[in-house]
Amino acid sequence: MKKFFQYLIVILLFSFWGTMLTNRESFREEFKQIRRQYIDKPCTQPIKYSIGTVDARFDITQADFQKIISQAEIVWEDPAKKNLFEYDSSAEFRINLVYDDRQKTTEEAKEMENQLNSLELKHDEATEEYDSLSVQSKKKISDYNKVVDKYKDDLDDYNREVRKWNQEGGAPEDEYEKLKEEKENLDDAYRKLEKQRKEINELINKANSLAQKSNQTAQIYNSNLNTYKNKFGESREFDKGVYDGKSINIYQFEAAADLRLVVVHELGHALGLDHLSQPASIMYYMMGEQDLENPKASNEDILALKQICNL
Ligand SMILES: [Zn+2]
Repeated sequence: MKKFFQYLIVILLFSFWGTMLTNRESFREEFKQIRRQYIDKPCTQPIKYSIGTVDARFDITQADFQKIISQAEIVWEDPAKKNLFEYDSSAEFRINLVYDDRQKTTEEAKEMENQLNSLELKHDEATEEYDSLSVQSKKKISDYNKVVDKYKDDLDDYNREVRKWNQEGGAPEDEYEKLKEEKENLDDAYRKLEKQRKEINELINKANSLAQKSNQTAQIYNSNLNTYKNKFGESREFDKGVYDGKSINIYQFEAAADLRLVVVHELGHALGLDHLSQPASIMYYMMGEQDLENPKASNEDILALKQICNL
C-alpha cells in the first residue's frame, strides 16, 4: 500500500513538471510576440546597416555590393510600401562577404563547369564537322560510282572491239588509230578515277579520325562529369548566407543575380521572417525556383511580411 502511494506521487510530480515546462515555453513564445509587437516594433523604423568585410577574393567592389543590397531592399520595401532598410556607414548591423571554403568550392566548381562546357563545345564541333564530311563523302562516292559505271561500259566496248579485230586477224590503220586513242582516253579516265578514289579515302580517313576525336572527347566529358558530380553534387546545398541577429554573413555566390537573391532572403530573416513552404518564395530554405533576374516576394512572402510588420 505504501509503495503504491509513492509511485503515485512520483507520477504526479512528473506530470506537473511537464505542464510547468510547456507553460513556460508557451509564455516565452507569447513574450517574444509581445516584445516583437510593442518593443521591437518591426518595420516601424528602417533597419540601419553598414557594410563590413568585403573579402577581395570575391571580386566585387564595396560600391557594387552596396548597389546589390539596395536592389535587394526594394523586394521587401515595395510590397510593404515602407522604407524597411537604410544604409548607414556607422550602423552596427553589418552585412559581410566572408570568404571561406564555400566560395572556394564554388570557384572550383565553376572552373570545372567551364571545362565541361568547352569539352561539350569541342565535341559538338567535331560531330558537326564529321556530319558534314560524311555528307560530302557520300556525294563523292555516288559521283565516283557513276563515273566508274561509265568507265566499265567504255572498257567493255573497247575490249569487244579489240576482240573483234583480233579475230579478224588485225585492224586497218584508221581503226587501229581510233582504238589507240580510245585506249588513251580510258587510261586517262582511270587515272582520274584513281585520283578521285584517293580523295574519297582521305575524306573518309579524316571523318574517321574526327569520329574518334569526338568519341574521346565524349569519354573525357563523361569522366569529368562524374568527378564533378562526386565532388560538388552534394556540397552545393550549403547555406549561402547566415543572419545571426547582429549581422548578415554571405559566404557564397556565383554572380550578382544570385548574390542579390541571397541578400533578399537574409534581409527577410533580419525582418523576423522564418522559412516558408513554397519553393518559389524568397523565404523558402533553398534557392532554385525563385526568379533570379527579377526577384519578387511571392504571395506567401507578402502574407508573412504583413503579419510580421502588422500591416
Ligand atoms: Zn534562411
